[in-house]
Amino acid sequence: MVPNFEAKLQEYAHLLVEVGLNVQPGQTPSIESNVEYVPLTRQCVAACYDCGARDVVAYYGDDFSTREAFLRADEAVFSEYPSYMKARVDWYLEQKSPRLSFTGSNPELLKGVDPARIQARRKVSGPATKAYFDAMTANRFQWCVGAHPTLVWAEKVFPGKRGDEAIDALWDAIFSVCRITGDGKAVERWKAHAAAAKKRIELLNSYQFASLHYTNALGTDLTVRLPDNHLWAGATDHTPQGVEFLPNIPTEEIFTAPQWDGVDGRVYSALPLAMDGNLIRNFYMDFKDGRIVDVHAEEGEEFLRRALEVDEGARYLGEVALVPYDSPIRNTGILFYNTLFDENASCHLAFGAAYPSCVKGGEDLSEAEQKAAGLNQSMTHVDFMVGTQDLSIVGAAHDGKETPVFVNGNFAF
Ligand code: ZN
Ligand code: ZN
Repeated sequence: MVPNFEAKLQEYAHLLVEVGLNVQPGQTPSIESNVEYVPLTRQCVAACYDCGARDVVAYYGDDFSTREAFLRADEAVFSEYPSYMKARVDWYLEQKSPRLSFTGSNPELLKGVDPARIQARRKVSGPATKAYFDAMTANRFQWCVGAHPTLVWAEKVFPGKRGDEAIDALWDAIFSVCRITGDGKAVERWKAHAAAAKKRIELLNSYQFASLHYTNALGTDLTVRLPDNHLWAGATDHTPQGVEFLPNIPTEEIFTAPQWDGVDGRVYSALPLAMDGNLIRNFYMDFKDGRIVDVHAEEGEEFLRRALEVDEGARYLGEVALVPYDSPIRNTGILFYNTLFDENASCHLAFGAAYPSCVKGGEDLSEAEQKAAGLNQSMTHVDFMVGTQDLSIVGAAHDGKETPVFVNGNFAF
């Protein structure tokens, strides 16, 4: 049993609803949940009403029923998207309703299902929900992704534990990295955390560094040029109406995009990279004019090489993210096998696509214009951790003036 579980669950629900979604009076949030998440979901519903929600609906999926349908429902079902389901997402889009969902579902749910059925379902659900999810990624309404342990996930993270013991261990880990102690003050802690991130973002944006220089004892010696008019981002996002929200809890990173052809030198990994169930350990990458020209891994090198062959853009970087070494996630020492957590464990880089919002006005540019502005284009985006306890990052201004950004693995300011 997790000590003080009820109080922590309630604190987590309030954190997701008050800071994650920041539900405003009169709004009509929806919660995409699962029958296995009922206690947390009920706490979230109550927290939405505490914020003045007009109406709250929790939609409960059920893994058993989903799997049965994929195995046994009439073939024709998979090429239809029911009009009432389309009407539902359209209604929520029109209302600009906040959306809460949870990560944690069973990755093996559809094992053994005819892939043609899965593909057919995707083919009809994709277009029907595209406008809704496009609006979500463009932050036209508030959204947040929380986490809920499931047995398969928990036993993967804690291979020595089984059943409830594994689930409790994962709850403990989630609470701890979400700064939930049971004292009911997580909301205040996260507001302060987001405000501190904002201050650093403003400072970094005012520096407008020409480049960042990474060094550490592993042998990392990497220079990353930054595009003109680059923007640092992180922590909160906001809707066009100016409502601030925190789409990812936990989040520790502040990030921008590198100039796609401006990366030179060598970088060593600081943590294993988990990709499609494979682990890549102790690797380095060599860069020349932005391009990854060589890689070497002590374990799993072939998976890394394959990932770089997805398209030409996969061989270039698309993200530079700063995360202090003393982050709650790395302090747990746990590999979560889940991006929501793992990408917040240490300073990371990503090969593949850059976020358009990382240069001024980037969201209004075509793909070709984005590339001209310095942003890498690719179908893939893979984060890998490079932050060590001794990592140093020095920012160089256009006139050559140097400013420490990271000293001994942590922010210099
Ligand atoms: Zn990141
Ligand atoms: Zn990333």
